[in-house]
Amino acid sequence: MYDVIVVGAGPAGSTAAKFLAEGGLSVLVLDKEEFPRDKPCGGMVPHYVWERFDYIDPYDFNIVDSPVFDLTCVSPSSRFKAVYYNKKRCDAGLPRGILVRRIVFDEFLLKAAISAGASFKGGCRVVDIRISDECAEVITSNGDSFSSRVLIGSDGVNSVVARRLGAPRIRERVSVILMNEFDVEGAEPSREATPPIVHYLFGGVVGYGWIFPGRINVGFGVLQNVGMSALRIYYERYLDFLAESGLLPDEVRGARPVVGMMPSRPLRHVCFDRVLLCGDAAGFTNLMSGRGVYYCMWSGELAASSIIDAVKRGDVSRRGLIGYKHACWSAFGGKVWVRYLFFSFISILPRRLRLWYGEIAVLLSRRYLFMRLFSKLSF
Ligand SMILES: Cc1cc2nc3c(=O)[nH]c(=O)nc-3n(C[C@H](O)[C@H](O)[C@H](O)COP(=O)(O)OP(=O)(O)OC[C@H]3O[C@@H](n4cnc5c(N)ncnc54)[C@H](O)[C@@H]3O)c2cc1C
Repeated sequence: MYDVIVVGAGPAGSTAAKFLAEGGLSVLVLDKEEFPRDKPCGGMVPHYVWERFDYIDPYDFNIVDSPVFDLTCVSPSSRFKAVYYNKKRCDAGLPRGILVRRIVFDEFLLKAAISAGASFKGGCRVVDIRISDECAEVITSNGDSFSSRVLIGSDGVNSVVARRLGAPRIRERVSVILMNEFDVEGAEPSREATPPIVHYLFGGVVGYGWIFPGRINVGFGVLQNVGMSALRIYYERYLDFLAESGLLPDEVRGARPVVGMMPSRPLRHVCFDRVLLCGDAAGFTNLMSGRGVYYCMWSGELAASSIIDAVKRGDVSRRGLIGYKHACWSAFGGKVWVRYLFFSFISILPRRLRLWYGEIAVLLSRRYLFMRLFSKLSF
């Protein structure tokens, strides 16, 4: 029997596994995919990640595609543009983020967990879990079962572990994004900064489009349940707009977009007897920016330290593990909820008011003070 089984080897699961193994616990990480595996993502990782996790080097071009110093935010009508940047960081020549390819980045995080002592089994889809007084057991699609004292559900937005523990139906807690990543000929990892562009509330839709030129990564996400056919229409409209603005070369049009899902709200319950939920499985995403890697990794770290404490005390019941929920709440939980409530408010506004809000927010952001305020919300 393992001390901990981690279901899902994304940023949340690999980070948890690394810290658990370093804390001296025996850890098994299971993932339905063999690694390296890709994942639909913009690939923008904010500087908080390497400031918190010092084994990530933003200048290691084996994992980093390019640094990001600023981000251009465009109003719904395209009349106003604001450049988001941090004066102190820019003056010091420090990037505010990096662009990564998830196929590379996630494998790097998993290897860090394995080097710390965690075991990994790929191609293991977990289909069920059983929690008893003696252990937590996971059952895989090929009939294998593994048991541990504690289980971490870090199996992403469509988490089997969360569903088995009674999470709301997926339609009630997930938004859908269409995106595409195009390898532009000759686009190699580069020390040259890539200037990403975000179109907030494009077309008055509660959501945003983005394009990261260079190696082109483009996407459109709606933070409401609009249905796939409406989303395709918005996505196509967005690509038309980018092509007309000269931002999207013709040769990358026409490719079938990839569908990605993102939690649209955090779950109320993330601690159970012998089980913790981390990352997207717990709904820990920054809805304002669509970024989840930072909070997911942070939740993995917090889960590891709560489990290490609980195992030492010999109490892995919900009560013994509840410190994890409080730690997440004081680390980032309040911010996740504020952004969720803010977006819920924006989504009930009539479309015209939403458009006004988009124009005014970008217009105000041209002033450094407001830009810093909005920037704090987004990153
Ligand atoms: C289109 C899109 C763009 C995004 N852009 C950004 C961005 O630019 N920056 C950013 O920070 N965030 C971005 N995000 C959010 C970010 O991708 C997620 O928040 C982050 O990947 C969550 O990490 P995680 O470890 O919780 O889950 P994941 O990265 O989803 O990992 C979950 C793992 O669990 C495995 N798994 C799933 N089910 C099972 C099962 N039943 N059994 C075993 N294994 C299983 C999967 O194979 C996967 O490896 C984006 C999301 C989307 C959809």
